[in-house]
Amino acid sequence: MQHSNEEISTIRRRHLGRNLSLSYREPLKIVRGEGQYLFDEVGNRYLDLVNNVCHVGHCHPHVVEAGRRQMGLLNTNTRYLHDHLAEYLLQLTDRLPEPLSVCFLVCTGTEANDLALRLARAHTQSREIIVLEHAYHGHSPSLIEIGTYKCEGPGGEGLADHAHKVSCPDPYRGPYRGEDSGERYAEDVAQAVEVIQGTGKRVGAFLAESLLGCGGQIVPPSGFFERAYAAVREAGGVVIADEVQVGFGRVGTHLWAFESHGVVPDIVTLGKPIGNGHPLAAVVTTPEIAASFDTGMEYFNTFGGNPVSCAIGLAVLEVIEGERLQARAHELGKRFKAGLDELAARHELIGDVRGLGLFLGVELVTDLESREPAAGAADRVVDLMKGRGFLLSTDGPDHNVIKIKPPMVLSAEDVDATVESFDNVLGEVTG
Ligand code: PMP
Repeated sequence: MQHSNEEISTIRRRHLGRNLSLSYREPLKIVRGEGQYLFDEVGNRYLDLVNNVCHVGHCHPHVVEAGRRQMGLLNTNTRYLHDHLAEYLLQLTDRLPEPLSVCFLVCTGTEANDLALRLARAHTQSREIIVLEHAYHGHSPSLIEIGTYKCEGPGGEGLADHAHKVSCPDPYRGPYRGEDSGERYAEDVAQAVEVIQGTGKRVGAFLAESLLGCGGQIVPPSGFFERAYAAVREAGGVVIADEVQVGFGRVGTHLWAFESHGVVPDIVTLGKPIGNGHPLAAVVTTPEIAASFDTGMEYFNTFGGNPVSCAIGLAVLEVIEGERLQARAHELGKRFKAGLDELAARHELIGDVRGLGLFLGVELVTDLESREPAAGAADRVVDLMKGRGFLLSTDGPDHNVIKIKPPMVLSAEDVDATVESFDNVLGEVTG
């Protein structure tokens, strides 16, 4: 059954919850994906620069085959012994630093973070949590009420009483921008610890993405995590790294983005790229925290860790390593950033170019001095780039950051073509 684009839009309006927007002024009908490319219904090809879920490329044959083969053999829950589950647990924990060695396999990033909150509460006997401004960690009530991206945005009901917000460690737009900004943002975390203790409560957790996605592709300044983690741990709290967007080699230098900050969390949550589009996610923690959570109440997840998910998760790890995708993210990330930096030197619309590996952000401003966000221009750039076959999107609290987080099978030619088109489109927008 095929529907025209207008029919699909009408059906969506009538039968799909309305609070779900479509990308682009003229929405795309995408019917096929291959590697870093998406194809519409008439065969136009688009370079996907924004989907960090299809990490090893859309429809990677090795991943597809692993899923197909296992679907034809068995898919059931984790109450049976299964080789794939055992192998996946070994492979995943082998790639994480000690003492992160106990896994909970779930289906979405939201489930992973929600479970991470439960683990932290069980271990510390406290709900008090410190979160970064502009952060998003998922769509369950437990995460909406601590994620300011949502609870302080349209339709939001504000931050929960047990959540304590600290400044987003954004060295470009945040309150601290100097050499010592890492230290100063960490002082805010230490202050939040004091505020919690001042009310006679215990510190529960500090939850932060290792690089912020929805916050605007932010790389927290050096020293921030080391000091923030120390302050929270000193007070008896646990630290949770949300690597749902940035894990699995995207940052290029390391497999996990927290490693690029020289820290190891007590709990890490993984999602999006872990299954290359298949709904798989994970929480990995220490034996001590896992023991605190073992209260007698079972933790059972109908779909989490099923044999198909584990087959796919294993195949994703094999492709990341077999195709040296982390090294590729490192090399192509450098190439991309150099190209964008060169554009920034010529286009006054670009206020900042930042990121690690293939997790990049280009912040557009109307004035380099005042750093006034150029949200309208960012939207136009994204639409014009789409017209040229490059799919991008915007994010950040001011919607003026163009985010770049493509499948990691991108080529050098793709990078160069993107930078060239970006150059032309910026000229068109300002000219
Ligand atoms: N954490 C982060 C950092 C995310 O970006 C997202 C999704 N955008 C989530 C958690 C939630 O993941 P999911 O949509 O798979 O529930």
